[in-house]
Amino acid sequence: MELRLYDTLSREKRTFLPLDANNVRMYVCGPTVYDFAHIGNARPVIVFDVLFRLLRHIYGEAHVKYVRNITDVDDKINDRAARDFPGLPLNEAIRKVTEQTGRQFHADVDALGCLRPTVEPRATEHIGEMREIIERLIAGGFAYVAEDHVLFSPQAMNAANSSLPRYGALSKRSLDEMIAGARVDVAPYKRDATDFVLWKPSKPGEPSWPSPAGIKAEGRPGWHVECSAMAWKHLGEHFDIHGGGIDLVFPHHENEVAQSCCAFHRERMANYWMHNGFLQVESEKMSKSLGNFITIHELLADWPGEVLRLNMLKTHYRSPIDWTMKSLEESAKTLDDWYRLAADAAPGKPAASVIEPLLDDLNTPLAIAALHGLRGNDVSALAGSLRLLGFLSESAAQWEGRKQQASGVDANEVERLIAERTAARSRKDFGESDRIRDLLAAMGVAIKDSKEGTTWEIAR
Ligand code: AMP
Ligand code: ZN
Repeated sequence: MELRLYDTLSREKRTFLPLDANNVRMYVCGPTVYDFAHIGNARPVIVFDVLFRLLRHIYGEAHVKYVRNITDVDDKINDRAARDFPGLPLNEAIRKVTEQTGRQFHADVDALGCLRPTVEPRATEHIGEMREIIERLIAGGFAYVAEDHVLFSPQAMNAANSSLPRYGALSKRSLDEMIAGARVDVAPYKRDATDFVLWKPSKPGEPSWPSPAGIKAEGRPGWHVECSAMAWKHLGEHFDIHGGGIDLVFPHHENEVAQSCCAFHRERMANYWMHNGFLQVESEKMSKSLGNFITIHELLADWPGEVLRLNMLKTHYRSPIDWTMKSLEESAKTLDDWYRLAADAAPGKPAASVIEPLLDDLNTPLAIAALHGLRGNDVSALAGSLRLLGFLSESAAQWEGRKQQASGVDANEVERLIAERTAARSRKDFGESDRIRDLLAAMGVAIKDSKEGTTWEIAR
């Protein structure tokens, strides 16, 4: 099986060759835990879950290591903690916010049918590794101390006469242009406008740790160095795949590459850089001010998680996705059909017609088209393929029962009306039988008559 992946760095689809087929390694930037995750945040989680499942299918479950971090040190977390728990010491309030939000995040993404990553490191548990990377960068001449900050110098990196990558290569930006375009009101402790923070002093009461490089004041890490440290600790200096949303290419991933390659004297940090496109809602950018900001949690109140999952995978991961009510309704219908047909079938091997498009840079829309093609001719391959993609976690009865519950329809009442209608039909009282059918339809119940009797389901 040949897997091909689009690599943001080389701007082309390349055959995926792992550094070690017994230990395939992937890192994906995870959430900053300060609030409910929105449906845009769900996109990288679902997309890279599909890749994780595909890699496990190819290389074996025990041979794939997936690391997705939790960022639990950040200004947004501090602000939220001070606002929600004004009576508590800030550090305690922060712990409450990160624990609560982390739990919520897990509940959300579990419901979306995503496997837990192999490791979910927390930034605050990797401060030692961050300090070590920072010390190495200073020793190598890539970073410097100024007013209790440590700053990384992209210009020092690009001046180094070595096999390091060029700063700007991932995001295809030239450092000269960045220098020319830099704003004038640059922080006074920076030598150059393009320098970015590796470490900074903490304000009184904020979380703080002993600083590197002999800085006396306690401080805290910058965001970019957190991911370099966690990836290093769990995946080593050089690994296979690094992923996240397209907005992270610059500056976050550009800076991660710079830090890791300069600290470890490597040409590369990851061999394949993968980025998902952005999600918008009903053709508009999602934002709190537009009032179209939807959390995963809110959507899960109206839709089973697998409907959200399918809706996400109908679009190729690199394309922008327009999240609409109409598309959600269609996804729900498709899943109803699959559940009815395949949820209780013995799952066979996933179909080649489904695997092949996935091997071509995760072409999930084509894989879904192939699933539709299987429904009439190979239900066991349909069941096996759906399971590989993270669907059919429930039985057909559970799925139907949940729909009934969500719709508020009382199953006993429906059965009673159907019995009445059957009686009316047998005495040829079609006026009454039609009246009951209309009554059921008004309740949102669709009925189907066959030789075996009358069956019913919730019409979406
Ligand atoms: P954040 O919490 O903003 O750092 O985002 C966490 C992850 O969600 C990152 O991989 C982002 O790239 C991704 N992300 C955020 N907003 C969207 C969006 N509207 N569409 C797709 N991905 C997003
Ligand atoms: Zn990151």
